[in-house]
Parts: sequence; C-alpha cells; structure tokens
Amino acid sequence: MNRIGANLAMLLMAGSAAAAGVEGELVLRWGDEVQQGERLQADLVLASHSVLALDADSLRAATDDLVDLDGRRVRVQLDGLKSGAGQAVAAVAALDAPARSKSAGRVDRPWVTLLCKFADVAAEPRSRAHIEAVIGAQGWMGDYWAEQSGGRTDFSANQVVGWVALPHARSHYVQPGQYARLDRLFNDCTAAAAAEVDFLAGGAGIAGINLLFNAALDCCAWGGGIHATLQGVTQRWAATWNPPFAYLDPAALAHEMGHAYGLPHANTSDGDNQTYDNPWDLMSDPIGHAVRDHVFGRLPKRLGAHQRARLGWIEPARLARVEVDGRYRFRIEAPGAGDGIELVELRHPDWPAERWLSIETRDRNDPQDAALPATAVIVHEVDTRRSQPAWVVDSNDPVADYSNTAGSIFGAGRELRDAGGEFVLRVLQRLDSGFEVELNVTRPIFASRFGE
Ligand SMILES: [Zn+2]
Repeated sequence: MNRIGANLAMLLMAGSAAAAGVEGELVLRWGDEVQQGERLQADLVLASHSVLALDADSLRAATDDLVDLDGRRVRVQLDGLKSGAGQAVAAVAALDAPARSKSAGRVDRPWVTLLCKFADVAAEPRSRAHIEAVIGAQGWMGDYWAEQSGGRTDFSANQVVGWVALPHARSHYVQPGQYARLDRLFNDCTAAAAAEVDFLAGGAGIAGINLLFNAALDCCAWGGGIHATLQGVTQRWAATWNPPFAYLDPAALAHEMGHAYGLPHANTSDGDNQTYDNPWDLMSDPIGHAVRDHVFGRLPKRLGAHQRARLGWIEPARLARVEVDGRYRFRIEAPGAGDGIELVELRHPDWPAERWLSIETRDRNDPQDAALPATAVIVHEVDTRRSQPAWVVDSNDPVADYSNTAGSIFGAGRELRDAGGEFVLRVLQRLDSGFEVELNVTRPIFASRFGE
C-alpha cells in the first residue's frame, strides 16, 4: 500500500481534481481502546492504488450511511488537510456514491489467523494450539459465527500459522503518540507467514485475516479493511489487528472480526462518547456480561439483531417490518430458537428512512447469552446518520450510563411509549423462548391535521 503524503494530497486538492472530485474505493477500519471512544480510519483507494487518508468526521457528515459505503466506489470533494495522531488526513466537503443493489456478500469462506512476534519481543502470550482451538478449522468460533450468520459462514478450512517473526522491532510499527502503522504490520506479518499459508484458499478466496501480535499496538485493537496485495491479488482485504488483550478474551477478537465483516459499533442512549456501554451487542461491550470460560477467557455474546439484519443474515421470513399505522401482535422468538419472527422493525410512516426501531428478544437460557443482565425484549433505535447507528433504548430518565438496568429491560407487563405518541410497545407475556408483544402505531400529526 502506497500512502499519499501531505504534499501530493495538497496537489490533488489544488488541481482540477478538486473541482471534479476524487474517485476511489472507500475502506474503513475501527479502532477499539478499552474505556475510550471509538477511532475510525477511512482510506480512499485511488485508481493508481495510492491511498488517501480521509478525515472520518467530515466524511460521516457528508453521507446518511457511512457504514453502507465501506468497500464501495465513491467520489469525494476535498476540503483541505487536517492532522490527527501523526497522520495528515483530507477533509471531505461532499460525497457521491452510486445507488447500490442490496445483497449479502459471500461470507462462506475461511479465515486465516497469523501469530506474529516483534523482532525484539520474545513473549508468546498464547500457544498456536490454543489459538487453533479457538479459530482453527475445528475451533469453537466456527459454531459461533455460523449461529450469528444463520449458517452463512464456514470455518472448516480455516488456517492458523505462527508464531512467526516480524523483520523489525516493535518501534518500527508503533511510535509514541501516533497510530500504529497498520499497513506495515499487515504487510510484514503476512509476508512472514507466506510460505505456510494460502491467502487465496485455492482460488475460492478467504473471509479475512486475523493478525495476532505478541505486544501492545497503539491505543487499540483494530478491525476493518486494508487495500493490499497478497499472492498477486490487489484488493480490499478484511483484517483485524490484535494486541494480546484482544485474544486473551476471544470476545474481543470476535468484536474485531465483526468490524472486518463491516459492522459498526452500537451504543446506549446516554449521549456520551463511550461506545462500549451497551451489554446487549457484541459490537458495543464484548466484555461486560459475557460468559467466562476457564480455559479461553470471555466468550462472545450474540450480535444485536440489527447488526445481523445489516449483513443480510436474518431470513426475510423471520423479519417483520411495520410500516403503516395499526395494531399488531407478534411472538418474537429468541435468536437460535424456532423458526418464527425473531426481529420486528418499526419503520414509522412519519419517520425518515434512516431511522427505525429494532425489537428483539434475548434469552439467558441461550448458552451464548447466559451472562446477559436478563431475559427480556430489547429495543434499539437505529439511525444510520449517527457514528454508532444503533442505540439501545432506555425508558428511564435520566438514562443509565451502562444499559444493564431496568430501563432497557422490557419483561412481561412492561410498556414502552414514545414522547410523540407515535407508538406503544407492550410486552404481553413470556413464551417458552421469547415474548409475545403488542405494537400500536399511530400518526398523531396526520390525525390533528385532519381534525380527527
Ligand atoms: Zn470496535
């Protein structure tokens, strides 16, 4: 990967390219630091295969659904340079993307997991055999992702290689006060393992590459994509970059893999920058309320239903969409149970298309969710214009800083009504697996306009 320097980026903006816009493929990566907000890196890969780093905040402001653009061709108007964490990034004034035909990408491909040691660090925090048991061809994480994806993932040809030695000391990749050089880490770790791994999986392709390192990186563990060349193929490779904390608890590794599949963070409704305070979604807090295993550490809980819907991982017959006013009754089954409705989306006729409610049930009898705060109906408000589109709904005022409290837990007899009088959600009764709910949707603005 050839990173464009600040001078070339300036030239791009000064020339006619600025007026016409710069076209390329968008590649996103999320960074995770315990107890901090998210980091987001965005690359624009130009036709020359040069990579222009974009400012994530201005990029987000230029689109209604940034996450949906990951891996797609876009045209951006640039607006000067900013700097952050030792990197010059181009601010974005406007963005165009062609309409997209929604279809789930192919995910039935294996993962490659590489264990890479810095040249000056001897530690091997986990053995290769241990990591094989997590995410090798027979590893338990294959069952986890098959459950999340409704059988759309297949880890039976997964490869694990290492530990192999990086050619340089840690300081070549990680400098104080700067983001780690994820490109160097990716290139050197894949090169060190190249003799033992087939990154093309015999031509079928792979789902992604997990890079496990034997010492801390920068702030973070990272997951997303990177534009690179492996075995002669230049493309966006899905990848994760994991310091030890991210594989000592494989819940964190699964969270990074979620980013590599293209998933954003979830959040609570408390309005702070801390995105890891929602225990109901692997893509918010993977660690809190997670099942603990004495050998492997904390295990991944389920993805929120809104995340699986984003990836096309919920069968259309199991998703009920409410788009007109009326009174509805649903039996919402817990994920992994039965074959009825498992997700109700309320897309109110008076709300913008970017916003909806995602209503699901979660069950502590489900082994993956056994440590959740409760068995209950859980509601996320999704708005794709936000940094973290899905916020778990909390009916208390003020809302909790960490959403394991009663305000987010809708058991039998509980009710959720919005301030605008547009809907009432009543939880009628608990079922063997899941809950029966009633949803009453009204249009108060429509009614008052016509004197009803
Ligand atoms: Zn994350």
